[in-house]
Amino acid sequence: MGLSKTIWTNPTEFLRVEQPVDPVLFFAPTAVQAAARRFIDGFPGMVTYAVKSNPSDEMVENLSAAGVRGYDCASGFEIDLIRRLAPDAAIHYNNPVRARHEIAYAVTRGVKSYSVDSRSELDKLIEMVPAEGTEISVRFKLPVAGAAYNFGAKFGATAEVAVDLLKVVAEAGFIPSITFHPGTQCTDPKAWESYILEAAEIARKAGVTIARLNVGGGFPNHRLHGVAPQLEETFALIDRVATEAFGADRPLLVCEPGRALCGDAYTLAARVKAVRDDSHVFLNDGVYGTLTELPLIGVIDRMEVLSATGEKRVGEEVPRIIFGPTCDSVDRLPGDIPLPGDIAEGDFVIVHGMGAYSTVTNSRFNGFGDLGIATVLSLKV
Ligand SMILES: *Cc1c(COP(=O)(O)O)cnc(C)c1O
Repeated sequence: MGLSKTIWTNPTEFLRVEQPVDPVLFFAPTAVQAAARRFIDGFPGMVTYAVKSNPSDEMVENLSAAGVRGYDCASGFEIDLIRRLAPDAAIHYNNPVRARHEIAYAVTRGVKSYSVDSRSELDKLIEMVPAEGTEISVRFKLPVAGAAYNFGAKFGATAEVAVDLLKVVAEAGFIPSITFHPGTQCTDPKAWESYILEAAEIARKAGVTIARLNVGGGFPNHRLHGVAPQLEETFALIDRVATEAFGADRPLLVCEPGRALCGDAYTLAARVKAVRDDSHVFLNDGVYGTLTELPLIGVIDRMEVLSATGEKRVGEEVPRIIFGPTCDSVDRLPGDIPLPGDIAEGDFVIVHGMGAYSTVTNSRFNGFGDLGIATVLSLKV
């Protein structure tokens, strides 16, 4: 792209000068630093980062600089990434299903914390991982509440199974802990309350004092104008309920947000390829690109439209159907999306809050997927 400088004032400056033909994600280190500080200052325990939500070097480096000392990894690739970028950080290998070669690899990389949700997977860990100084967290689930979609459909033992697993973990000499994930983009703090109360019940029934309780990710980022994340209220609730539920046996707390740390640090600019029949807007990015998640968890309404020369479109909003660039009819954003009526070919559609599950799920389908990344001081257009 022939960058004339490496840090831009804001997306508008870049778009005006560079006129990119591919989608661009704008990254603001200041936004990552602010999100990390909000968690580190507010959360009553250790803050770790779920690497899968955005595993870019710039993301991990900024989190590490801001003081994040632990990372939730799900694969050998992610473990290597953290060992390279944050060599002294703790790694929590919290993908509860692992092939034997993956367990063996984690052991060689010094991983000391694992999660588990079934007896067969626990048996593999007992067989292959030295117990001394190693934590195993039992992951359990409740019927879904408050999140954008159901995480419990794939992982998590029932409370009953969790009791048995926790006993076996402790008997085998591992450090016993409990973990859960309330589901992504969870805007209802009450979900954490139900989970923490149940975690205390599980520990009591197992007769095991747990070392740590990992309250998962799921903390929301700012996707909708009208719904700003109430993180501090959730932190306060977690703190209060942990004491009420566990009393003198209160474990150390850990959280592992992905979206809430990276989501607001990136803003997307997709370009309008065509406005057809005054109703269909074709973008150069879509559900096979960085917008993969929108059909799953809903449209982000923090959108703005700029002309090719960077002026904000202010025409009265008209509902439009938005298509991505591929020839697949699935490549469409859900519903009708209100956009300024004067939107035109060559404009930029700006979508804020696009840092999570975007760069990583961008594919090369149909030959699209070239994605620019530009660093900016501010994401305000
Ligand atoms: C994906 C995932 C997270 C992060 O979820 P967010 O909704 O992005 O915060 C945390 N923990 C586990 C085990 C996960 O699989």
